[in-house]
Amino acid sequence: MKYEHLYVVVEHEEGKPVPVSLEMLGEARRLMDGYNKRYSADEKVVAVVLGHGVRGICEEMIHYGADAVVYADSPELKHPRNLVDTKVIAQIALDKAVASRFSKSADFQRPRYMFFAADSPGRQLSSTVMAQLDSGLASDINKLVIEDLEIKHEHKTKGQPVVYERTLEMYRPDFSGFLWTTILCLDNRNPLNLRDYHPQACSIIPGVFAPMERDASRKGVIVDYAPTFDPQDLKVRVLSRKAVKSAVDYDSKKAVVSFGRGIKDAPEQNIRLAAELAREIDAEVGVSLPISKKPYPVSESVSSAYMVPDRVIGTSGRKVMPLLYMAAGISGAMQHIAGMKESGFVIAINPDEDSPMKDECDLFIKGRMEDVIPALIEELRALRPTLEARK
Ligand SMILES: Cc1cc2nc3c(=O)[nH]c(=O)nc-3n(C[C@H](O)[C@H](O)[C@H](O)COP(=O)(O)OP(=O)(O)OC[C@H]3O[C@@H](n4cnc5c(N)ncnc54)[C@H](O)[C@@H]3O)c2cc1C
Repeated sequence: MKYEHLYVVVEHEEGKPVPVSLEMLGEARRLMDGYNKRYSADEKVVAVVLGHGVRGICEEMIHYGADAVVYADSPELKHPRNLVDTKVIAQIALDKAVASRFSKSADFQRPRYMFFAADSPGRQLSSTVMAQLDSGLASDINKLVIEDLEIKHEHKTKGQPVVYERTLEMYRPDFSGFLWTTILCLDNRNPLNLRDYHPQACSIIPGVFAPMERDASRKGVIVDYAPTFDPQDLKVRVLSRKAVKSAVDYDSKKAVVSFGRGIKDAPEQNIRLAAELAREIDAEVGVSLPISKKPYPVSESVSSAYMVPDRVIGTSGRKVMPLLYMAAGISGAMQHIAGMKESGFVIAINPDEDSPMKDECDLFIKGRMEDVIPALIEELRALRPTLEARK
């Protein structure tokens, strides 16, 4: 077959794969196990690892679901550089000798499917790699299905019904977070405009798929790939790289109080209320993504302290798992939920009982935050002497 296997581009930090890499491998494993059974095939899950001193993580990729790992180890790949990484990943994807190490097929031309992480580096890399490979990309995906689909389309099939076998249906939440779009990357079968689009590729939202249980008995093939570099591409050099630690401390706090667009009726007052509640229970303050875009006018001190990307909870921001998570004026879009669903106990404050947040919380307080939060603070202050006495 011309197109075979599912390639997963692995991200890692300080010698460890980042969680979404293991999640992608887990989903790839599930999909390809179903695929191989259904089509009596033997196509592989192939992890692609770039870096310097990365041989050590290759076995781990197999323990977490890969059949094969192709790794490129070079000082030139020590720090991520989009242009260099793009070209090396594209080289690996098109290399028939590499594929022959884990597959007997003589016809291989390029991967059938490809996964990237939908985080900052992955979003950029996925688009440039797919441009280099001249195929399409569906970004920020949270559900995947492989199906045979009958498609009738003016441009793609010249209006005739055509069955596209083994098509990756890629589901993407829309901007509201409550509706889904299915994205297909289809070859042109229109005789007037024949053209193939493979790999069918997507970037995957961190936190939505479960990794496989680590299985140290799994065996696989590890391929050491020697990339070639164009000296022109190496002109930009990374002299040092330092991870900047966020000043927003979600790790050591036991509670998080988050607010969203429900602040809209009195933004300044409501943000101050949420912050006051957070202080009362020694919590950190979080926000939904739209709040970081500063949608409402508030004072500079409130805006710069709270309406900032660093406080965003969700797929575009931070993942938190405090003992207590309070969501005031947040509707519960899946991108937000992915960032807080592992919290211990969740309280939602919202006047709308139909809000999806109701299904995600342990306690739903029906009401407006400007009414509920002052009452909560008053109650907490009244209880404080009793609580102090119990210590
Ligand atoms: C690629 C992509 C990535 C994204 N990443 C993220 C992410 O990481 N994090 C994230 O949060 N979002 C993310 N989003 C956006 C997400 O889809 C939602 O649009 C967003 O989470 C909604 O924010 P919200 O709940 O604050 O606002 P809304 O959906 O507008 O909800 C406001 C809620 O406030 C309630 N309310 C109204 N008045 C009051 C009141 N007086 N008191 C209390 N409640 C009140 C309403 O009933 C409503 O439920 C992303 C979207 C896309 C497309």
